[in-house]
Amino acid sequence: MADIILTINAGSSSIKFAAYEIDQGKLARLALGEIDGIGGKAHFSARKGNDEKTGFDLDQSHIAVDHRMALTAVMDWLEKEQNGANVIGVGHRVVHGGPDYCEPVLVDTAILAQLRSFEPLAPLHQPYNLAGIEAAHDCFPKAAQVACFDTAFHRRHPFIADTYALPREYYDEGVRRYGFHGLSYEFIHRILRHEEPVLARGKVAVAHLGNGASMCAINSGKSVGSTMGFTALDGLPMGTRCGQLDPGVVLYLMREKKMSADEITDLLYKNSGLKGMSGISNDVRDLEASTEQSAKDALDYFVSRVRRNLGGLCAELGGLDCLVLTGGIGENAVNVRKAILQNLEWFGIQIDFAANARNERIISEKGSPTVVLILKTDEERMIAAHTAELLNLKEPLVPAIA
Ligand code: AMP
Repeated sequence: MADIILTINAGSSSIKFAAYEIDQGKLARLALGEIDGIGGKAHFSARKGNDEKTGFDLDQSHIAVDHRMALTAVMDWLEKEQNGANVIGVGHRVVHGGPDYCEPVLVDTAILAQLRSFEPLAPLHQPYNLAGIEAAHDCFPKAAQVACFDTAFHRRHPFIADTYALPREYYDEGVRRYGFHGLSYEFIHRILRHEEPVLARGKVAVAHLGNGASMCAINSGKSVGSTMGFTALDGLPMGTRCGQLDPGVVLYLMREKKMSADEITDLLYKNSGLKGMSGISNDVRDLEASTEQSAKDALDYFVSRVRRNLGGLCAELGGLDCLVLTGGIGENAVNVRKAILQNLEWFGIQIDFAANARNERIISEKGSPTVVLILKTDEERMIAAHTAELLNLKEPLVPAIA
């Protein structure tokens, strides 16, 4: 029976999962999948290592499907597919590790209670992440539960990069720039260390540009700055999130428009960004296909904010040896990348636009002072690697990303 590490990203109405077999000390991915419609009409879909797809509705003849029932379906499916599956560790994506967690942690009752105390810092995600841990504990009682935090990679920021210009008591009670997407940045930096060790030791900026988007400055392997702050709203505009906003706008919405906290939350998280600006879609492909001026404006705004933040992070780093683009937009959107990276020769970025159009791994000219790379991120694999490492299994992050 295969020893398996499962990764789980539990949200309010969905659970994304990945299953890895430990094969001679390395992680081999067996499947990637999702159960969506939790709380209502739940559907299971998965893609196996050989790309074979499967999908079915979960039986919900009696009651609505909850997180535990969804994970039971994952367990049953894995056991059937693998002729028995021994899940030895479950790695969880947990959005918030509070001010102190700078590494993943094995979860026990006391740790779970502490992670619960961070719920007010991330009310839209943390409660569901923790529901995933409890459900996994019920379904896989013998497996170690490991919490991997989106904030951990940024936790050694200097005070100045972490604070707001508020009275100190707010910082002390946890109102700080936490930064997110840490698992993606950590994965990218590990790949860089393996493939480009000299660059990895230098000044690196990573742009994680997907439906969620942020940028991170990394010096000698350590995060020194992030565009995201107290919540995952700050910084770049995103698919549906607003990015940087004058807090005075929120006061205006409260005072003049009489909007409640829930209404403002909805506006800023779900109906702003590319979707809100364009009035068309949160998806770059739809905006590129559109002839509407609002679609062009949304893309132009996105590009302009990425460039502006790149400048800020470089100032923080004191130079730039390497820029990595990742995430769905960073990895695929040739024209958006071109718009972000053009006319930056004065800045030390010389782009080979033909290489960019071909989606090559290195898209800067030979001899460009800053090397620009496109790397595919894999947060699930990072979680699986952390889980395996905490269980003292061998170095599991293989050089070739399967
Ligand atoms: P992610 O959240 O990292 O999966 O990124 C999702 C986003 O990447 C989508 O919403 C699209 O906007 C963008 N994307 C993915 N593929 C392409 C593509 N071929 N061209 C342009 N944008 C893309």
